[in-house]
Amino acid sequence: MDLERKHVQTKKKIIVLGGDGFCGWPTSLHLSNMGHDVVIIDNLSRRNIDNELEAESLTPIQPMGTRLKVWEEVAGKKIDFINLDIAEEYDDLLKTLHTEKPDVIVHFAEQRSAPYSMKSPKHKRYTVNNNINTTHNVLCAIAESGLDIHLVHLGTMGVYGYGTAGMKIPEGYLDIEVKTETGERIEQQILYPTNPGSIYHMTKTQDQLLFHYYNKNDGLRITDLHQGIVWGTNTEETKLDERLINRFDYDGDYGTVLNRFLMQAAVGYPITVHGTGGQTRAFIHIQDTVRCIELAIENPPQIEERVMIFNQMTETHRVNDLAKLVSELSGGEIAYVSNPRKEAPENDLHVKNDLFLSKGLNPTTLEAGLLQEVTEVAQKYAYRADFSKIPAKSTWTKEQQPGIPEGE
Ligand code: NAD
Repeated sequence: MDLERKHVQTKKKIIVLGGDGFCGWPTSLHLSNMGHDVVIIDNLSRRNIDNELEAESLTPIQPMGTRLKVWEEVAGKKIDFINLDIAEEYDDLLKTLHTEKPDVIVHFAEQRSAPYSMKSPKHKRYTVNNNINTTHNVLCAIAESGLDIHLVHLGTMGVYGYGTAGMKIPEGYLDIEVKTETGERIEQQILYPTNPGSIYHMTKTQDQLLFHYYNKNDGLRITDLHQGIVWGTNTEETKLDERLINRFDYDGDYGTVLNRFLMQAAVGYPITVHGTGGQTRAFIHIQDTVRCIELAIENPPQIEERVMIFNQMTETHRVNDLAKLVSELSGGEIAYVSNPRKEAPENDLHVKNDLFLSKGLNPTTLEAGLLQEVTEVAQKYAYRADFSKIPAKSTWTKEQQPGIPEGE
């Protein structure tokens, strides 16, 4: 790749919260490569969760210091790093805003696994404390700083719930008609009613209310990206040197569905489908995630505008169809296991994503990228896999069985 060709018209100072994570790391590199001045804030809690679960990324992740040194060697660009707990260290966060004076903050810094959030009362409480406090501290600090900062937050398609009565899920707001006391009919738009399916998703629905309030009360400029499940591992930038490689989680708690299937196929482990596999989910490739964030930064809302919401997904698929696709590509067999989640066994999902497409997103399709992902990542690092970490162990209720193959 010709690094010199990457440039932006207006160089911005951008703080990436959670910039050591699966989405945050490639986004930080991409924005730095575009010519922006990037600072990462992260408390490395995701690395500590790896220690807690005794599960590592399939790909070898370098320490933060090495990642940043290699990026400087390869790209000639410097990214600063501040180790700070955003949920706990409010004063340091505020001080950092005063010193760095960012134009944009991209907020990825939340506990992002639904199964992890359902593991035990301790994990539920951690997820609520961490996620709601990080989001509120960021909003409160922006308002207190008096700086005009555009906040771009990573939300989830899961805030909508997965049953939509056959209609296409709009981008954040629902058109409704109300009847007044005098019988007059008035059209309105309201925030789409939320229907979270886990404690993690519940924290993301609370985030929406916090955004709504700070936008209304303090005039904060906020973009909330309702993202689908991210698949894939590398982006143009993380491919430049093996030491820049991105995370690939495959364990029962953090492994997102498609990456888990790819890895299972690569190591010859049955592709485990939860329940009938009739659940339909929204997906996006990691390369498109970083591009969408670039587009969101380039298209900020105006001060008087409400919170801008984009659906950040490119394809929807039934889980069972994905399993079949991966099985056809790899020859791996499918195993149906009990579903550890409390959810409808089957659902349809139709989603509007016109906003990003209209701003120039050209999606990476599953059809085009899947085989490459199997061979270049899953098979290459299969020797690092710990099979004992694959089965899902968290359950949504005490009565449910973990996701072990039926019959065992
Ligand atoms: P991740 O766990 O890999 O990254 C999150 C990062 O935030 C980690 O590096 C972690 O150390 C950091 N962090 C967490 N709490 C923090 C705190 N209190 N202070 C400082 N740093 C903290 O997760 P990800 O997959 O990169 O997800 C990033 C965001 O995108 C999340 O908000 C998630 O809800 C959203 N999202 C992810 C997906 C997906 O498929 N991965 C899909 C939809 C939405």
